[in-house]
Amino acid sequence: MAGNKAIIITGGASGIGREAAYQLAKAGNAIVVADFNEEGAKETAANIEAQGGKAAAFKVDVSKAEEVEAMVDFAVDTFGTLNGLFNNAGIGLVKPLLEMDPASYHKVIDVDQHSVYYGIYYGAKKMVELGAKGTIVNTASIYGSMAAKGSFNYNAAKAAVVMMSKSGALELAEHGIRVVGVAPGFIDTPILGDNEEMKKALSALHMHNQLIQPEKVANVVKFLFSEEASAINGSTVAVDDGFLSFK
Ligand code: NAD
Repeated sequence: MAGNKAIIITGGASGIGREAAYQLAKAGNAIVVADFNEEGAKETAANIEAQGGKAAAFKVDVSKAEEVEAMVDFAVDTFGTLNGLFNNAGIGLVKPLLEMDPASYHKVIDVDQHSVYYGIYYGAKKMVELGAKGTIVNTASIYGSMAAKGSFNYNAAKAAVVMMSKSGALELAEHGIRVVGVAPGFIDTPILGDNEEMKKALSALHMHNQLIQPEKVANVVKFLFSEEASAINGSTVAVDDGFLSFK
């Protein structure tokens, strides 16, 4: 089992990141719950501490290099080491390609793609400096390997995340750092918005005809951080209820 490690989770105030924080803390890890939403991050950390776990909240905008670097320093100052990061914070911004102005494009690339580079770069540098081995997990998407209408920016960002997990794994293996990805299908979190008709349509794309609960993704993320997953390197694991295989 994953345990006794210091792990940073971005997007830890909500959805997949929050569930991953709960599960990784329950497995005995100390968690930095990092998010733009400071109140939400504090709430996640407080819930972990109320269950006897170790957690600290940190406000970060993952699209800003200097803030990600500060987040890494905070983890080491707080828990004395760093054994992993779950680079998970992200946004969606659906627009037809012909309306995909540079601001809309760059917003998603900055938050969903550049953030993962910053997390890998500053996180791995610090881990190597400390001689700390561990794992970096990056949240991609089914839309990192297949195109969806209105998702030109998101498709580009998530495809880059898939490749950064491979490329990162290749370069960091010699330092005892594994880099892997997780590609969720349609997960029941606030990022999907509140259009119930759309959610029903997305549910129908899964084998079980329902949205996937964030705990299901967190289960896989916890496994990816564990020693049992030591032979998974550079891969992005789909948690998509069959979507990529059968639809
Ligand atoms: P969510 O909206 O519940 O959580 C996303 C979190 O990221 C929020 O707490 C938000 O405050 C935080 N965040 C957004 N921008 C940030 C920034 N600039 N800096 C710091 N934090 C920021 O959504 P979720 O579904 O849990 O999303 C987590 C990840 O999963 C994202 O990368 C998303 O693209 C990916 N994903 C989600 C789905 C889905 O269907 N829910 C599918 C595929 C991939």
